[in-house]
Order: sequence, then C-alpha cells, then structure tokens
Amino acid sequence: MADFPRLPPSGIKVIIVGAGFAGLTAAIECDRKGHSVLLLDKAPDLQPLGDIISFGQNSSRFFAKWPGVQEALTPLVHKSDVFHFHDWKGNFVTTQSFVEEHRTWGPRVNGHRGEIHQVVLKHARARGIEIRLGCNVVNYFETAEHAGVELQSGERLTADLVVAAEGVRSRGRKLVLGFEDKPQPSGYAVFRAWFPADELLKNERTRHLVEKGDSHHGWIGQDVHFLSAAIKDGKEMSWVCTHKDDGSIEENWQFPGRIEDVLRVVDGWDPVVVDLVKMTPPDRLFDYKLVFRDPLPTFISPQARTVLIGDAAHPFLPTSIQGASQAMEDGVVLAACLDKAGGKDKVQEAVRVWEKIRYERVHKIQKTGVTTREQWHKADWEAIWKDPQSLHLKREAWVLDFDCEADAYASYDAVLGEL
Ligand SMILES: Cc1cc2nc3c(=O)[nH]c(=O)nc-3n(C[C@H](O)[C@H](O)[C@H](O)COP(=O)(O)OP(=O)(O)OC[C@H]3O[C@@H](n4cnc5c(N)ncnc54)[C@H](O)[C@@H]3O)c2cc1C
Repeated sequence: MADFPRLPPSGIKVIIVGAGFAGLTAAIECDRKGHSVLLLDKAPDLQPLGDIISFGQNSSRFFAKWPGVQEALTPLVHKSDVFHFHDWKGNFVTTQSFVEEHRTWGPRVNGHRGEIHQVVLKHARARGIEIRLGCNVVNYFETAEHAGVELQSGERLTADLVVAAEGVRSRGRKLVLGFEDKPQPSGYAVFRAWFPADELLKNERTRHLVEKGDSHHGWIGQDVHFLSAAIKDGKEMSWVCTHKDDGSIEENWQFPGRIEDVLRVVDGWDPVVVDLVKMTPPDRLFDYKLVFRDPLPTFISPQARTVLIGDAAHPFLPTSIQGASQAMEDGVVLAACLDKAGGKDKVQEAVRVWEKIRYERVHKIQKTGVTTREQWHKADWEAIWKDPQSLHLKREAWVLDFDCEADAYASYDAVLGEL
C-alpha cells in the first residue's frame, strides 16, 4: 500500500459503487481513515469525459489534503477572479469579483470534469485503493450484519457497508426507497461545448474573450442564460447555454447537440454569443437535458448498511454550482462518521448519524439551483439596471466557508444524542 498518511486499520470493510467524484472521494477518505475499500465502476475504462465542472471552497479544500492533487490541478483550472455579466443583447451590466473570497475562503476549482477526474483517480490508484472496472452492479442486498452487491456477471460481494455512488440512474435507490423512482423533466436543458480557442483569437468579436488569458462572461435573457469561460490561459473555451426544453427525459453527458438548435435559442442575441456558437466545432457540442427528482425521504437503507451518496442521493441543477461539492462532502462526512463511531460494530450508528448531518444541509443547498436560475431567467430588468449587483451569484459563507470534516467530528455526539 502506498505510503500516504492514514489512520490505523479500523476493521471496517466498505464497497463503493461508482467512481465519479462522490465514489472516489468516499474511497480516498475511507482510506485516509483506515477503512478498507473496494471501489467498483461499470465503465471498462474511466475516460476523461465531460466539460466544465465547479468545486466550491467547501470541497476544493479536500484536494489540498490529498498529497499531490492540488499541485496537479493547478495548470488545469480556470484562473479568472471576476465574472462579467451582460444582458442578452450584449450591454454590460456588472462585474462580480471573487478576489476577496479566494483570499479568505481559499480557491475555487473550475475546470474540465474529465481532466480533474483523472487527477483524483490517479491519486486513488497511487494510494493503493482496490478499483475494479467493468463491474456493472445490478442488484443490492443487505442483512442486519452485512450489505452486498450483485454484479452482472453473477458475482456477489459483501462488506460491512455498501455505498451507492452510481449517479443519477442509481440502482441502489430501489433498496433504499423500496420502489423504483422516476425522474421528471425540469423543463430545461443545457447545450455544452468545450474546444480549442485558436479561431476565437482571429475573430474581432470573440478575441477579447481569450486574448488576455482566462475570462468568465455571462449573458442573461428571458428563460435563457449563456456562460462562457476561457481556460488554460485562453487556449481553450467552454460555454454552456441553459434554455427551456420540453423534450424527452434523457440524461446523457455525451448526447450530441446541433449548432442550428443553439442558434435558434440565441437568435437576436449579442453577436459575440452568436459567433461563439457558430465557431464551435459541431462534434464538440452536447445537449444535456436537466431532469428533476424530488428530494428522497432518506439516503439510507432499512438496515442502515447501504447508503446513497452524490447524484444517486440528490442530483443538483448546474445553477447551484454545488453538485460535485456536495457529492464530495457526502464521502468525506461518511468516512469521518465511521471513524468517529469507533469500529465495525458501530457502522449502523455511524450511517444514521451521517444521514442526519447531511440531509438538511444538502437539501437547503439543492434549492439554490432553482433560486439562481429564476433570479436570472425571470430578471426584472428595470430593477436590475437600478441595482446591477442583484444579478450576482450568491456566495454564502455557510455553504462555502465550511469544513464538513471538522463539523462531522464536532457534531457527531450531539447528533447521536438526537437519534
Ligand atoms: C461521463 C460523465 C460526464 C459528466 N460531465 C459533467 C460535466 O461536464 N459537468 C458537470 O457539471 N457534471 C458532469 N457530470 C456529472 C458530475 O460528475 C456529477 O453531477 C457530480 O460530480 C456528482 O458525481 P457522482 O459521483 O455522484 O456521479 P457521477 O459523476 O455520475 O458518477 C457515477 C459513476 O457511477 C458509475 N456507475 C453508474 N451505474 C453503475 C453501476 N450500475 N455499476 C457500477 N458503476 C456504475 C458510472 O460509470 C460513473 O462513473 C458528468 C458525469 C459523468 C458520469
């Protein structure tokens, strides 16, 4: 096993299903706390997929705790400290600065989901965590003494605790809820693109987005917003466009988008936006439908031997900018509760305390996704021109300046007393 700082072995065996940010964080944090981990993912190979993703200070602080990770992320992440807002026609409205929060709360980490994921995956491997790919988990089961998973191959694996971190199409939900829940359309979808920025530098309308390095701009319209981020010193461009959509329910990060569909959505908008869309290589455009799931009544199974974390428990709208962060917090707090409970016999207690610590915070933050979207999409422009800062993203200390690991240790006993 690689020589990283870790607590002495706890004797607790954990199976984690899904090697996204929720599962990887749970695995790394369990390893730090001395629990033994088996991490499974159905993908035969974990490719660097996706595009822009954000980690607030509440989660990026953990990258800094994992030796070498922060350093590896530094060249990959977005470096602008300011966000420029425009109305849909291109009139400049306001600039939001993040300088002060970076100084006091630490850095945010915004970058390519696949690239950041590869860095964290490499760290998990370097720690010696057992990772088995090509393992499609088709069923979950549990008794009072243990929990387990069944793979598509028929193989059955058991542990003291199973963590279902398999994203929005979680099968673990069935064991936890007792029935299969169905997603509902949210009424919105996101066009997403990420591509090399060389051509943007040659176009006089788009040049300013990339010529001075990284930049961050937003254009706000009725029921549509368009965000651009130049990254890697302006060498690459990422944009997302959230718009009304009443199409079918399809959550797929690789579903191809069509340039002409985006152009219809931004018809009559700032020519900068229109050119940005026209200059997007068609094969770098994806169309992601946003679906909605009602908050679950619980994240834990009847025997408290199986837990849902990350998107499996609580998918977030992108406008919350907290989906990945809350997925990471879940894993950090779970590993800490297992440690604090003090041993294999206390796994169920730890799981119940974990849920109580996480449940309210997660759902309170989840709601901010709708609030921010409505703040932009239903903007009262007369009021905004009088108070431009009302467009700013809410950056709240209780969400961002928060150490969920320290909080778990500090609040564990009191929460246990309330169970
Ligand atoms: C391919 C991909 C691309 C993404 N791109 C972006 C992006 O560009 N921007 C963004 O903001 N968010 C993106 N996301 C979502 C984002 O990563 C999550 O919203 C957030 O990080 C929470 O992560 P999670 O670990 O809960 O879920 P996920 O990141 O969805 O990870 C779930 C993991 O579970 C595995 N899995 C699923 N079912 C099974 C099963 N039955 N058995 C075993 N393993 C299983 C999947 O292969 C996946 O690796 C993407 C997710 C994926 C899977």
